[in-house]
Amino acid sequence: MRLDWQKRAVILFAASLLILSVVLVFFAIREAEREKLLKEREIEGKQQRLVEGIDGRARTLIGEAENRVLQAVKKNRSDAHPAQAAADLKGPLVDIPCVSEVFFVDNDDQVVFLNARPLFLLSGEKPRYRDVSSSWDNDERWKRAEEAEFRLNDYSLAASLYQDLATKTADQALDALLVNRLARCYTKSGKHEKALGAYRQQLRIGLPDLISEGIPLDISSLYQIGNIHLHRGQREEAAGAFLDLYQGLLDSRWPLTRSQYEAFRKLAEDRFRMAAGELDASLQSAWDGRLQDLKKIEKTRMASTGILENVQGRIIPRLRLEAREMDADSGKFLRIAETIDSGLILASFLPLNKETILGLLLDPQALANGLFPPASEKSGREEGLSVAIVDESGKVVAGPGLLSQEGSEKSGDPQLVSTGGFADSFPPWAIRIYRSGVGAVERQFRMRRNIYILSLVVVIAALFFGGFLAIRSTAKELKLARMKSDFVATVSHEFRTPLTSIRYMAELLQRGRVRDEARKQQYYEAITGESERLSRLVENLLDFSKIESGMKEYRMEEADIAALAADVATRFRQQAGFKDFTLETEIAGGLLVIQADKESLGRAVFNLLDNAVKYSGENPRLVLRAWSGEDAVCLQVEDYGIGIVISEQKKIFEKFYRSEVAMESDVKGTGIGLPLVEHIVRAHGGKVLLESEAGKGTRVTIRLPVRRSEEKKEDENG
Ligand code: ADP
Repeated sequence: MRLDWQKRAVILFAASLLILSVVLVFFAIREAEREKLLKEREIEGKQQRLVEGIDGRARTLIGEAENRVLQAVKKNRSDAHPAQAAADLKGPLVDIPCVSEVFFVDNDDQVVFLNARPLFLLSGEKPRYRDVSSSWDNDERWKRAEEAEFRLNDYSLAASLYQDLATKTADQALDALLVNRLARCYTKSGKHEKALGAYRQQLRIGLPDLISEGIPLDISSLYQIGNIHLHRGQREEAAGAFLDLYQGLLDSRWPLTRSQYEAFRKLAEDRFRMAAGELDASLQSAWDGRLQDLKKIEKTRMASTGILENVQGRIIPRLRLEAREMDADSGKFLRIAETIDSGLILASFLPLNKETILGLLLDPQALANGLFPPASEKSGREEGLSVAIVDESGKVVAGPGLLSQEGSEKSGDPQLVSTGGFADSFPPWAIRIYRSGVGAVERQFRMRRNIYILSLVVVIAALFFGGFLAIRSTAKELKLARMKSDFVATVSHEFRTPLTSIRYMAELLQRGRVRDEARKQQYYEAITGESERLSRLVENLLDFSKIESGMKEYRMEEADIAALAADVATRFRQQAGFKDFTLETEIAGGLLVIQADKESLGRAVFNLLDNAVKYSGENPRLVLRAWSGEDAVCLQVEDYGIGIVISEQKKIFEKFYRSEVAMESDVKGTGIGLPLVEHIVRAHGGKVLLESEAGKGTRVTIRLPVRRSEEKKEDENG
């Protein structure tokens, strides 16, 4: 009942602690979850702000560029014709950030670029040539001169006629044409020096838009100069002339269509190679270097020409389509983005007046580079956020992740977490936000949760263990208490039985009721036996209590075990003489002498004999043996009684323990005999061995080690 109450208290305590821990852990996990969500949301907010910040910066940069261009234009006359407006502006607009070009578009879609000049006429652009040869069509002298040159092949006549005409004209263009004709006649008649002079004179007049027979006069002059030099073996001069032609083409000196440009450019290069090909190696490489320089220039010019061509061919048509939305007064620019093979064109337009639209080209790369102010990078870094701007094809245009991105994507870190864009898709790029350590928040949360759960498990385990210990120790305590009270009862009983019989026999003797001498003697022996039994009991109890309190002392002396065994057997026979048993002794001769407390050891053997009689059952036969082995002396008591079941063989050495059979069969006992025996034997450094089988008997052996005389001496010396 008491145990139940204590058990219940322990279980209740453990259960309430358990519930409390579970509740605490539950709330802790929920709190951790909430924190995780907040953190995630905060990071998402940061991502959003990063995108907004970059977009905002793009708006600002573009807006600033547009306004500055507009202001620069307005400072001049904004109502000017495109060409005029461009001419007026030239200069001040070079270094507005992000603006790569400013241009004006008229109602005929003719575009005038402020700085950039295409290498050739753009499609749709009207060429501005001057062909003066037709103005001579009706002139007699001109006809005669041409006849002399082409039909009669009389070049000197032709030359004098051309010269004659030249003296009579005040028009520079006509003059230039005549000098060119003159030079041709000189060339044909082999007067190379004169021809060179005439061609150079024509070039000096400097009218690049002058053409004759579809070819700009300057080009034919330069070409002829080169040819004459080549003819005369003046290779360097020839190479120089052809490179001049190439340079002139790159300078867009002449209004040429694309195919014309390409044809002349090829001609210039071929001829140059022909001229430079046979020069000395060192000269040749110097000239080749010049050619390569020009080619490099051509490459960049070609690229920008491509952009201008696309402005003309694709942006302007779109402008016309979308122009309805444009409002001159609103001051709001119309922005058009167009992706072409070689990249992206970003254009922005505002009508200046009814005829002219102001346009500007933004440099995509400069714009992209301007989108990353160091501050915004920093704010994202804390969360491991990095930004990259990618174009429609997925190519990274700008961003801190520009270099490390590919490699790190493989390792899974950083990962793309969100994608944003620019307002109105201008520029048509995506803003990608990468986060390194994605899942760090989740990992942190999981770790915390695991720690909570683990601690819960630990608490549960501790509670179980503690509860188990508490319950076990109370159970043990209770058992001990019960044993003690049993012990008191049995001890009292043990005392009462001999006392009663002593008193009874003493009274009989006192009153003289026993007459027979032999019977009297028997009574005296019984009284002595019973009182010796009592005093043995008392001694056992005293010994036991000394052992319990740790006060038991042993007096070691030289002991002859054979004598000790014989003595115990004799005393036992005397003292238990009234009981019905036979005790055999098998005591070997020449037993070793050992150090022992004779009294205690004797009591131990006496106890064993006592047990053997008590538990002898139907067969009250006992054997006491003593012998000495290699290194031990043994004392053994054997009986053929009730025996001990295996499960109890260890327990009977515990204090107060009595076997169930013993209790049931009403054999008196205190449960301290065997513990006492064990303690005494241990004190001698020996061991108690028990062999027993239920119903067959028991053999208890005391094995006492013998210390060799040499060892003993060593010990004494040491
Ligand atoms: P007790 O006073 O009960 O004899 P012991 O400590 O001497 O106390 O013995 C403990 C128990 O061991 C006994 O109660 C008995 O059950 C068992 N026991 C001891 N010796 C023998 C034996 N020779 N044969 C059978 N049982 C024995």
